Amino acid sequence: MSEALAQAPAVVLDGCHVATVDASGTEHASGHVVLEGGRVTAVGRGSAPNPPPGATTIDATGCLVTPGLVNTHHHLYQWITRGLAQDSTLFGWLTTLYPIWARIDADTVQASAAANLAWLALSGCTTSTDHHYVFPDAGGDCLAAEIAAATQIGVRFQPARGSMDLGASQGGLPPDSVVEDRDAILAATEAAIDTWHDPSFDAMTRIVVAPCSPFSVTPGLTRDAAGLARRKGVRLHTHLAETLDEETFCREQFGMTPAEYAEDLGWLGPDVWLAHCVHLSDAAVARFAATGTGVAHCPTSNGRLGAGAAPTAALLGAGAPVGLGVDGAASNESGRMVDELHQALLVARMRGGPDALTARQALSMATMGGARCIGREQELGSLEVGKLADVAVWRVDALAGAGIEDPVATLVLGAPALEHLYVGGRPVVTGGALVTADTAQLAKDAARAAATLREAPAWT
Ligand code: ZN
Repeated sequence: MSEALAQAPAVVLDGCHVATVDASGTEHASGHVVLEGGRVTAVGRGSAPNPPPGATTIDATGCLVTPGLVNTHHHLYQWITRGLAQDSTLFGWLTTLYPIWARIDADTVQASAAANLAWLALSGCTTSTDHHYVFPDAGGDCLAAEIAAATQIGVRFQPARGSMDLGASQGGLPPDSVVEDRDAILAATEAAIDTWHDPSFDAMTRIVVAPCSPFSVTPGLTRDAAGLARRKGVRLHTHLAETLDEETFCREQFGMTPAEYAEDLGWLGPDVWLAHCVHLSDAAVARFAATGTGVAHCPTSNGRLGAGAAPTAALLGAGAPVGLGVDGAASNESGRMVDELHQALLVARMRGGPDALTARQALSMATMGGARCIGREQELGSLEVGKLADVAVWRVDALAGAGIEDPVATLVLGAPALEHLYVGGRPVVTGGALVTADTAQLAKDAARAAATLREAPAWT
């Protein structure tokens, strides 16, 4: 345990409805959760029997306490490129945005990431991944910039060093100006792992290897990236089977579906989670489950781009890990993690009927499902003694939720308000307000960065 976590003051949450999301789905209608030394040290019914000396006791009557939400797919730099290509397909949207993204640098990425992570924290997210795959030559260290932003905001962070090496001149989708050299990518990715990856139980930063997609990365780099990740003992992530255009691309280029292509390159396995997976055959669902391959389900983004509805009920039924992701804000302008629980339920039921997904399954996807995807199910995703003290406290008795009997229904079907958020027992949100940074300043910095990218005068 780090010194900082050991020194975090103990907190007792009392009088709340506790949804532990443990393997039995245990809930306490009036219970307690104790956070001490960065860990959960007690969970149960009634008041905490032996509160730690000097602990801060919070009367959480009228609140629902859940594990902090785990965001399994994102592109933080996109916070400053929202609202563009509003009616495009994925490929049309990407080709509009690539030239704008080519102008990012460490300063704009830090402003974008800090604002975006603050917004995520305010929507219940305690751990976020990030898939960063645009590294302009003159852009400085964009990965270091977003790690600095995560440290400032105080959320647990699992950035993926992304990459693209298949430019338009070689048959790929992105312009050649935004792709990198394969050897340089592998060297930079290995350096990122050596510099930042922390395998310890309470790690705040872990690195992931993440070439971008089948239509922007060569098969050679995709295979080599998997080899690098396995040699270094880190996880693998990419986009897969997001649209029918991608399926057409894979069939024409490789004679396979995206899922078959991924398996052919060594990209199915318990150390892999894949974003979207909207277009999967029944056979692919079975292979994902058999290999333990995880899925980052991004229902809002899939809707925004008209990509389709992922087969989450089938994946869950088969036993595959499924987490939720907001995806980059350029395809999900609202970017609120808690909204994805709501959208996941609606999308699953539009596809599969009223019993396709329950509110508690949606909560489980956003917590334990996400923890499984990123390989941290021993540390995160449920409120159990010994796990990390990453906790969201939702007010469910105010105007939006008063009178709804089931607090979990308020969270997933209603409009909950985040009251408190703890990461490793440290407060990040208190009384609905971010305590780690000035949100007005974050908004101003993000607006200025957005204006810089659009080569317009900075907003004041
Ligand atoms: Zn994405």
